[in-house]
Amino acid sequence: MAIRFYNTLTRTKEEFKPVEENVVRMYSCGPTVYSFAHIGNFRAYIFMDTLRRALKYNGYELKHVMNITDVGHLESDADEGEDKMEKAAKKENKNPYEIAAYYTEIFFRDMERLNIEKPEIIAKATEHIKEMLEFVQGLVEKGYAYETSRGIYFDISKLDKYPVLSNRKLDEQIAGARVDVDEEKKSPYDFALWIKAPESHIMKWESPWGLSYPGWHIECSAMGRKYLGDEFDIHTGGIDHIPTHHENEIAQSKGLTGKTPAKFWMHVEFLQVDGGKMSKSLGNIYTLDELQEKGIEPLAYKLFCFTAHYRTKLNFTFETALSTQKALMRLREGFVKQLEGSQKIEPQEIENYETKFSEAINDDLNIPAAMGIVWEIVRNSKQSKQFADLLLKFDKVLGLDLVNSKKYLEDTKKIEIPEEIQKLVEERIKARQEKNWTLSDEIRDTLKEKGYAVKDTKDGMTVEFEK
Ligand code: AMP
Ligand code: ZN
Repeated sequence: MAIRFYNTLTRTKEEFKPVEENVVRMYSCGPTVYSFAHIGNFRAYIFMDTLRRALKYNGYELKHVMNITDVGHLESDADEGEDKMEKAAKKENKNPYEIAAYYTEIFFRDMERLNIEKPEIIAKATEHIKEMLEFVQGLVEKGYAYETSRGIYFDISKLDKYPVLSNRKLDEQIAGARVDVDEEKKSPYDFALWIKAPESHIMKWESPWGLSYPGWHIECSAMGRKYLGDEFDIHTGGIDHIPTHHENEIAQSKGLTGKTPAKFWMHVEFLQVDGGKMSKSLGNIYTLDELQEKGIEPLAYKLFCFTAHYRTKLNFTFETALSTQKALMRLREGFVKQLEGSQKIEPQEIENYETKFSEAINDDLNIPAAMGIVWEIVRNSKQSKQFADLLLKFDKVLGLDLVNSKKYLEDTKKIEIPEEIQKLVEERIKARQEKNWTLSDEIRDTLKEKGYAVKDTKDGMTVEFEK
C-alpha cells in the first residue's frame, strides 16, 4: 500500500519511498538539555515515535538519528543572547556538562514513560565537534562563509534561493519588527556557523579562529551527514524549526554538498495551553510529573496527542486530559475483555480492519482515524482473542503498551481505594484483632455491597474493587 506524507518542502502530500529500498534514514531534531522537557516538546517526540513505528509496520528498517543539543543553542534561534546551556549552568551553579547529563537522563526517563522507542543513533553535539568544524571549514573554502569579530557566518547571497522551506519574504521581515543590529554581517539573514567564545564560556574548543563553539544549525547538518549521508529520507521537528533552524540546515548542506539533505521535511504543530502558546520562555509549561500528580499517566497524555492530527494545533486542558485518562482505562478494559473472549471471527472481518488501519496510518499518519478503528474493535459486540491479537498488532504503531493492560488495571484498583472504604478496612482490622468476628463479617458484607471484595490472607487482608 502506498504511503503518503505531507512534505513541508513541496507543500504537498507526496508518495513516500525511501532512497534505499528497505531502509528509511531519518533525522529528528532532539532536545536542548538545559531544562526539563515539557509536554509540548513531548508532542514532537510522540509524533517522531509514531512515524518511525508506522514505517516499521510497513516493513521498513529504520536508521534514525536524534541529536542531543548540549552546546551552541543561543537564547534566540536567530543567534542572539547567551548559550542556553551556559545560562542554565550559571543559574544552577553547576558546570554545563553536569546540566547536560542531568537533563539528558530525565529526558530519556520520560521518553520511556511515554513508551517512545529510542532512535538507533543518539548523537550528542559535544561529541561531534570535529565533524562540525570540518563542515564549517568546507563552507569557508567554498566561499559560502566569512569571518566577523563574533564568529563565522553563512553568506546566504551565495545561494540561488533562500529561503526554500518557509514562505517567509525576507524584505518584509527586514521592514518588520526584528531588525538585526550586527553591522559586520553582509545580510541580516546570514547566520552563525561557529561562534567565538568569550573568556567566561566553559564549553569551547580549539579552531582556526581561536577558542570557540559550534552554532546550533551546523550541529544537525554535520551529525546528520555523518550517520545518514548527503541525502537521506526524512527530517522531523516542530513547526518552529521551519523558518530558521531547518532553513539554515538546508542552506549549509546546499553550500557544502550541493544537495538538500532530506527528501521529506515533516513538522508537527504546536501543543497549546488554554488556547495560547506553551513554551519555556512564557513560563506556562507542564512536565509529565505535573500531569502524573493530577492523575494523568504519561500514556494518557500520549493518547491525548492521538486525538488530533499531527499537523493541527492541539489545545491542552487538564479537563480534557483527565477524560483521556478515563478513555485509556476503558481501552485497557476493552482489550482485556477481547482477550478473554472466545467467539470466532471471520478472517475477512480482521482483514477489513487491517486494511482500514493501514490506510489511516499511510495517509499522512492519520492517527485519529487509526484510533477510530481501534475503538470500533474494542466496542465490537463480538468478543474474541482474535480481536485482542489485532489490537496488539496495531499497538506496534501506537505504543500504548496494551499488552500490559491487566497489570495497569490491577495497579489502579490498588491505589484508588476511597477514604470511606479505607476507614471500613481499618475498622475491620481492629475488629479482627479484638476477635469480634460478627463485626468483622458485617463490615465485609458492607464492603461487598460497595463493590469491594475482601480476602483474608495469612498476613492480613486484601481489598479489591470488583465492579
Ligand atoms: P527544544 O528542546 O526547545 O529545542 O525543543 C524540542 C522540540 O520540541 C522541537 O522539535 C520543538 O519544535 C518542539 N516543541 C517546542 N515547543 C512545542 C510545543 N508547544 N508543541 C509542540 N512541539 C514543541
Ligand atoms: Zn536540529
